Amino acid sequence: MNNRKVLAVLLIAPHQDDESIGCGGLLAKLKSTGHTTHVQHIYGGYTNVMAENKGDAAHIRLSEAQECSRILGFNLLDNFGFQDRGYAGIGLIIDSLIELFHRIQPDVVLCPHSNENDYEHQAVYQACKESLWLSKIARFKNYGTHNRKPSVLLCYEVWTPIQHPTLYIDISEYIDLKEKAINAHSSQVSGTNWAKGAQGLNAYRGTTLKGAGYFEAFETQQLTSEQVSILSTLLTL
Ligand SMILES: [Zn+2]
Repeated sequence: MNNRKVLAVLLIAPHQDDESIGCGGLLAKLKSTGHTTHVQHIYGGYTNVMAENKGDAAHIRLSEAQECSRILGFNLLDNFGFQDRGYAGIGLIIDSLIELFHRIQPDVVLCPHSNENDYEHQAVYQACKESLWLSKIARFKNYGTHNRKPSVLLCYEVWTPIQHPTLYIDISEYIDLKEKAINAHSSQVSGTNWAKGAQGLNAYRGTTLKGAGYFEAFETQQLTSEQVSILSTLLTL
């Protein structure tokens, strides 16, 4: 991969399948260009699965996520296992994310955007934004002493299209792999064709941007010059 910087990319997803619907193309592209991809799920995914009990349901979701990871080649796949619709205090999620940021030291953090029409997606956006900030502020002695990276926060779309995207990534070469990754979550696609829906949105992004192709769209926060430099690596994939 010549002299280019290798990016550590950390994707935070509320549920198993959000990573593929929102960023399956980008994750495949990052992997094929030698960058590292870490995927962290927040909620256990016990609900919305036909199973005898919570344990069986969790096992089904985990197996599907592992299959998805095999397809997209994640370097790390983990689930905090917070109870679905358990409305755990956001502080617990923030503490877990800060520890993760310190451990991974990500260059790029991906999370759902702020206007997703789902409570848990919004909660994860808030937790992610807050914990990334806290993890860098040295005066918060319990939190901010280790993460010195200028980490770029990129927000992706799953339930609700972003109204004014500020970044687009061309995933045309990876659209078939993205479909496979979404379909690995068998329990979630048996009654709903999420792959077709995501493909339609990615095609719409391509058509409105360039007249053709498939693109994933993102929202960025305000950027420092160091963060612009990280982003330029991402854009030359
Ligand atoms: Zn979700």
